[in-house]
Amino acid sequence: MPKLVILGTSYSVPDEDHENTHMVLQGKDRLVLIDCVSNPIVRLKKAGLNHSDLTDILMTHYHPDHVSGVPLLLMGMGILNREKHLNIYGLEHVVGIMKKVLVDYQWHSWPRLFQVSFQNLPDRELVPMLETEEFRIFTSPVKHFIPTVGVRIEFIKSGKVLAYSCDTAPTPSVKKLAQDADILIHEAAGASVGHSSATQAGEMAKSANAKELYLIHYPTGDFYDPGIVDAAGEAFGRPVKLAEDFMTFDFD
Ligand SMILES: [Zn+2]
Repeated sequence: MPKLVILGTSYSVPDEDHENTHMVLQGKDRLVLIDCVSNPIVRLKKAGLNHSDLTDILMTHYHPDHVSGVPLLLMGMGILNREKHLNIYGLEHVVGIMKKVLVDYQWHSWPRLFQVSFQNLPDRELVPMLETEEFRIFTSPVKHFIPTVGVRIEFIKSGKVLAYSCDTAPTPSVKKLAQDADILIHEAAGASVGHSSATQAGEMAKSANAKELYLIHYPTGDFYDPGIVDAAGEAFGRPVKLAEDFMTFDFD
C-alpha cells in the first residue's frame, strides 16, 4: 500500500511540465505532503488523490518554492468544510514564520471547522517525525541558506528505505539520511552555496551506498541541462534516473 508520488520536480522556476519540487506519501490512514506549493488541491487531484485525506504536512524550509501553497490549501480546506485535524511539521524557523504569515492573511476570519497542530521539529539529526504501522519518517538538518531538513522514510513491511536530500550542499547529515537507502532522491539545482550539482548528487549516493539515485529540483524548461543524468551516473558508478512529475514509487 504505501507509495510516494512526486508532485513536482523543478528547481525554483517551474515550467509547463515540471512544478516546484514537492511530493506526497500515501499510507493506509495517512496522507503526508512533503512541502506544499502551487495549488495543492488541484495537484493532488491530478495525482488521483483527495486533499480531504491529507493528515500531515512537512514544511522542509521557508522558501516559496517549497511552502507557498500552505495558506491556499488551508483556505480551500476551510471553504470545503473539512473537519479532520491537520498536523503541520517543520523546524522552529519555518513554523514560526508560517504562523505569522497566516495571521497576516487573517486566517482567523476564514471559514474553518478543523484544527491545525503546528509541531516544531528539533534541530538535530534523525528526529522521528511520524511513525505508523507502515512507515517511519525521520528528518535531519541539511546545508541550505536557511534552516532546512531532509527526509528518510523507512517502510516497515518491505524494509525499504527512501531518502530525500531536499535543498542542500553536500554535507554529512545527508549521507546519514541516505545510508544504504534503496532510493535516494537528491536535488541537482547546480553547484552553488546551499545546493548541489548532479555530480555532487552522484558522489553523495555513492558515499551513502544508496542503490538507486533519482535527480530532482533540477533546472527545467530553457535551463534544462541534458548532461545532468550522465554526470550524476559517472560519479555514482551506476545508471541514474531523472525524477518526473507524477512518478510513483511503491513500497509494498
Ligand atoms: Zn528549492
